[in-house]
Amino acid sequence: MASNRSGAKEQQPSLDAKRGAGGPKEWRPDYAIKYAPVFQFPPQVAEFGQWLFGYPGYLWPWNVIYFAVCLGSHTYTTPPLEVCGEYKLGWIAQLYLRNLALLWAFAGGWHLLLYTLKVEGDNQKYDKKWQAENTKKFLFHDQVYDNIFWSCGSGVMTWTLYEAYQLHQWAVGGVGADRAYFEWGGDNLAYSVAWLLLIPIWREFHFYAVHRLIHVKFIYRHVHYLHHKNSNPGPWSGLAMHPVEHVFYFSVVLIHLVVPSHPIHFFFNAQHTALTPAGGHHGFEGPIVDGKIPTGSYFHYLHHRYFECNYGEATIPLDKWFGTFRDGQKAGAQLAEEHKVK
Ligand SMILES: [Zn+2]
Ligand SMILES: [Zn+2]
Repeated sequence: MASNRSGAKEQQPSLDAKRGAGGPKEWRPDYAIKYAPVFQFPPQVAEFGQWLFGYPGYLWPWNVIYFAVCLGSHTYTTPPLEVCGEYKLGWIAQLYLRNLALLWAFAGGWHLLLYTLKVEGDNQKYDKKWQAENTKKFLFHDQVYDNIFWSCGSGVMTWTLYEAYQLHQWAVGGVGADRAYFEWGGDNLAYSVAWLLLIPIWREFHFYAVHRLIHVKFIYRHVHYLHHKNSNPGPWSGLAMHPVEHVFYFSVVLIHLVVPSHPIHFFFNAQHTALTPAGGHHGFEGPIVDGKIPTGSYFHYLHHRYFECNYGEATIPLDKWFGTFRDGQKAGAQLAEEHKVK
């Protein structure tokens, strides 16, 4: 899949031009971005164990938190299958409102903490500017309102419709129903846990593939440009996408039509896809709150800053394998001058 090299270049904002008087307008770590120690040769067992079980690591805190949220929200707010046999406004609206509340908890929570209360000031904020106001670039002339509109409108709606479709299919014994199982434990326990652990990994593969696809010039110009208006992203930018991108992005859950899954797998996958971008776009390098909360993604900030690099995420080194990885260390401000990790 070709990336939008020339097309993206035209879109690149002239942040460099705005640098200069008044001190640095960008914060950069003085260390290179590193991938998780998963694909290393020779394997580093101790380092891998620390990454898997340590704090912060793969499981703790964020994937454990997302799983706890999924378990709680699924147990108490997913409509019972008996009512999903027919598409009806009531149970679909229930799903939509549940999802809306979840997104507000995460994106709204990060926004409250970092942009309203400003608990970190602009300390370790990648771009020292705050979210754009009074600009025709965004709907309502306001970046945050624009981002909330796309996230809560098309974003939560698309997420909800994928869930509603799957619930309905399970209820009527339709598409994917032969792949669903409803007993988590017993003989299924080891499989259930293993598949759960792999879901964020599957998401990285899917995200990388879809993201490369939507950087193809035509799709970028008509679809993905909307997300990239956020060259200085905030928590609400994560899910601020064109409706067509939402359809691509949430198609990650279609794997459950093929791979045997419990509803928990399905909802964990869907919620992880919907909720993690807020933490990946808030624009601050963690850990925050006196160094207690690990968060932030300089990896993805560089994608918003330079467009043509770091399409994936920082666990599976897909960008490295496909030659699109930048570690953020610079010899100059331009991407071309940054060094690549060997
Ligand atoms: Zn993004
Ligand atoms: Zn992109």
